Amino acid sequence: MGTLDKFRDRELAQKIVKKIHEEAKGLDEVRFMHVCGTHEDTVTRTGIRSLLPENVKILSGPGCPVCITPVEDIVKMMEIMRQAYEEGDRIIMTTFGDMYKIPTPRGSFADLKSEGYDIRVVYSIYDTYRIAKENPDRTVVHFSPGFETTTAPAAGMLNVVAQEELENFKIYSVHRLTPPAVEVLIKQGTRFHGLIDPGHVSVIIGVKGWEPITEKYGVPQVIAGFEPVDMLLAVLYLVRMVKAGEAKIINEYTRSVKYEGNVVAQKLIDKFFEVKDARWRALGVMPKSGLELRKEWKELEIRTYYDPEVPKLPDLEKGCLCGAILRGLALPPQCPHFGKTCTPRHPIGPCMVSYEGTCSIFYKYGALF
Ligand code: SF4
Ligand code: SF4
Repeated sequence: MGTLDKFRDRELAQKIVKKIHEEAKGLDEVRFMHVCGTHEDTVTRTGIRSLLPENVKILSGPGCPVCITPVEDIVKMMEIMRQAYEEGDRIIMTTFGDMYKIPTPRGSFADLKSEGYDIRVVYSIYDTYRIAKENPDRTVVHFSPGFETTTAPAAGMLNVVAQEELENFKIYSVHRLTPPAVEVLIKQGTRFHGLIDPGHVSVIIGVKGWEPITEKYGVPQVIAGFEPVDMLLAVLYLVRMVKAGEAKIINEYTRSVKYEGNVVAQKLIDKFFEVKDARWRALGVMPKSGLELRKEWKELEIRTYYDPEVPKLPDLEKGCLCGAILRGLALPPQCPHFGKTCTPRHPIGPCMVSYEGTCSIFYKYGALF
């Protein structure tokens, strides 16, 4: 049996489910929140919610960096394109496939492309670097969203760009940090009894990165991998901690996550970015939750050259529940638009567009709760 097969093993999963039922007997309702699109994918695809006892609930928090990218930033990038083209600077913009389609009151990047602007979908920031090398006479801008997992390769790429003095490569940073967002949700009243920490983010920030949440708020946490057995073990460990009245951090994903995290990646992120208060779509401004390029690296940021005014725009269409879903207060089937007026082909809100958006995941697997 390969290493991963063990984490997909049906019999093992059934044994863990049985244990969860035994241990959760007699407990009041316990609610565990994850903050990761891939965790939601595993939970929904494998029907984990339906296997759990009635009194054990899994909530889905802000697990999708694309969904929470502010409308103003998407619109500002679109305005930058318009202004630059008017001035004869035919920028090539790159971004990820799901970001490309995110709706705003002023349309999406896909709409802008249909007007003739050069916008290209890339799989990684490395593709942007390649495009910049191939087009030395054009400015190439990567609209760069992502949590810690995506920030690390972005910082690595910026390091190469700085070393090579590649002058036509720029980014628009909308990177965000996960733990500060969880802290804000706790302060704003999202009630949960345990947190399932995202494996990829934890590879970068380590067990250490989650410690303040347990220390300040007494929340038990389990860092979990992405297979069904990983998720079930996370639930079992959390149930046990709640039952014992314990609040600690258990690293279930030891095959990838170290206590210190990836120190090289952390240093690179720190070299290029500084932590700032930042807006999250549908969630408002969260203290110390965003990453901006440091002053000494401002020549790598496109807003240094173009900074058009953007009016305040509504985050969501009327009736869209993305805000409550991102706060872990609702699940997609509670939205009257879900699967009817809102589908991946005709999305109303960002959570239905991104691959990591909770609504799109629920739609894909037809989950009903
Ligand atoms: S980048 Fe990875 S860890 Fe972060 S939310 Fe997406 S899937 Fe989860
Ligand atoms: S189903 Fe559509 S409208 Fe409803 S919360 Fe999700 S994205 Fe918003």
